[in-house]
Amino acid sequence: MSFSASVLTLYPEMFPGALGVSLAGRALEAGTWSLEAIQIRDFASDRHRTVDDTPAGGGAGMVMRADVLAKGIDHISPAGDPRPRLLMSPRGKPLTQVRVRELAAGPGVVIVCGRFEGVDQRVIEARGLEEVSIGDFILSGGEPAALVLLDAVVRLLPGVMGNVVSGDQESFENGLLEHPHYTRPQEFEGRQIPEVLTSGNHQKIAAWRRAESERLTKERRPDLLEPDPSR
Ligand code: SAH
Repeated sequence: MSFSASVLTLYPEMFPGALGVSLAGRALEAGTWSLEAIQIRDFASDRHRTVDDTPAGGGAGMVMRADVLAKGIDHISPAGDPRPRLLMSPRGKPLTQVRVRELAAGPGVVIVCGRFEGVDQRVIEARGLEEVSIGDFILSGGEPAALVLLDAVVRLLPGVMGNVVSGDQESFENGLLEHPHYTRPQEFEGRQIPEVLTSGNHQKIAAWRRAESERLTKERRPDLLEPDPSR
């Protein structure tokens, strides 16, 4: 069974978008994963296909209705669907490579993309939606966040990345940022490739890379060096 992604969105035309090209696009064509983008409006019950309403308690903007979203979720993910149900949300738990790996090892994902001010709290609770954030900034909608999450997951599916080794050595995979990379030419605007990398001494190269990883992590992301069970 291939990895199956179902996305509920007001803009299904945004999918597969960036995931229709390159590695993810080829894997989609090959059937390594599947993607359906479903229009939330199809589950509205009035003539105007209304999906949102004014916030209870007042204030700016609109809120996505719980009943319409629940209908959509029940349609694409009926009871017994083993796939986790995610809601892209800046209030969610920040996405990590650990969670990405877990998702890639599972049967797929159901993703709800918010718009406007967000979604009615009751559908989050009633359908057990796991809120996932892609960072501490606000997007205009959940769609780009869903594309980011799926990109990170799909590249880990078996057979998608040609060079499996490159995956293991990447940033975050060993709790550190990755070392710098170099390639030809040997000299670029007066800058040389670090000598050790052209020495042919694999032990020294590995030690240099490890030291550079540690230096960069200490400098840029000291938080990664703190023990954190959630990562
Ligand atoms: N009023 C909300 C923001 C709504 S942004 C708040 O202050 O928390 C509209 C939609 O964009 C959200 O419902 C969510 O689906 C999506 N979104 C915005 N920023 C996001 C982020 N950092 N990560 C994941 N989804 C995000």
